[in-house]
Amino acid sequence: MQRLATTDAMSAWAAEQRAAGLRIGFVPTMGFLHAGHASLMRLLRDRVDRLVVSVYVNPLQFGPDEDLDRYPRDAEGDAALCRAEGVDALFMPDELYPDGFSTQVAVHGLTDHLCGRGRPGHFEGVATVCTRLFHLVRCQEAAFGEKDFQQLMVLRRLVTDLALPVRIVPGAIARAPDGLALSSRNAYLSEHDRARAPSLQRALRWLAEEVDAGERCVDTLIAGAKARIDSDGVEYLEVMDAATLQPVDAIGDRPARALVAARYGATRLIDNVAVGAPLTWT
Ligand code: AMP
Repeated sequence: MQRLATTDAMSAWAAEQRAAGLRIGFVPTMGFLHAGHASLMRLLRDRVDRLVVSVYVNPLQFGPDEDLDRYPRDAEGDAALCRAEGVDALFMPDELYPDGFSTQVAVHGLTDHLCGRGRPGHFEGVATVCTRLFHLVRCQEAAFGEKDFQQLMVLRRLVTDLALPVRIVPGAIARAPDGLALSSRNAYLSEHDRARAPSLQRALRWLAEEVDAGERCVDTLIAGAKARIDSDGVEYLEVMDAATLQPVDAIGDRPARALVAARYGATRLIDNVAVGAPLTWT
């Protein structure tokens, strides 16, 4: 496995692979890698000739009061996981942006609600870094987890709108045995909060099962699910149209998604489940 520490090294490596006619797959991450990240690597490993993982804690996607400075880091652990997953190149730059960087990529509509509302500027940071990374890595495929469902939808919109030659491949949510969605931020949780956090998934699962049993009223579903969450505060719990991420009043024929963000002390966790008609990825 090659370790690439600069944007020049990344570009040169990508140019070599492309010149040899090889297909590049890419998993962008912020590091502190876990089995959720590994599942995205496995998803792409057999679809491409060369697999690239980036580890970069992107300041652009953190708000002023967020956890940029204390975001967990473990460069050697990340390298070991990537090696074990057959990664060809690990791109771990100290700096990703050139001096004077002044460009921002914004995806509207899909970012009106959910994390877009609670974290102003977050998705502009994500869209901007991914646009830059896609150009540096020159990947034909990039995997993103359904764990960050809104992010996944934003990235799909972005590559379509800007005609970027990258296929966005969605990966299912990897969970701990008790149902908690794996997240680098789970490392922040106290034992007490770690025991409470699976209530997020249980509440969402309850909601999806109520829909399967015939409940259609979103207010009823949200109230019932919220009552099942044990946290220090629910930032949002919404049922959205899965494709547009706009609120729905009632479950209809279109695929929907229930999404939650909740606080445990200073830690903010998110999760989501499919609701009603299944979403088919094209
Ligand atoms: P992050 O390092 O948190 O920025 O995540 C990097 C990528 O891994 C994103 O596409 C996430 O959606 C994905 N990811 C994070 N946690 C999980 C999980 N539990 N299951 C599947 N994908 C995940």
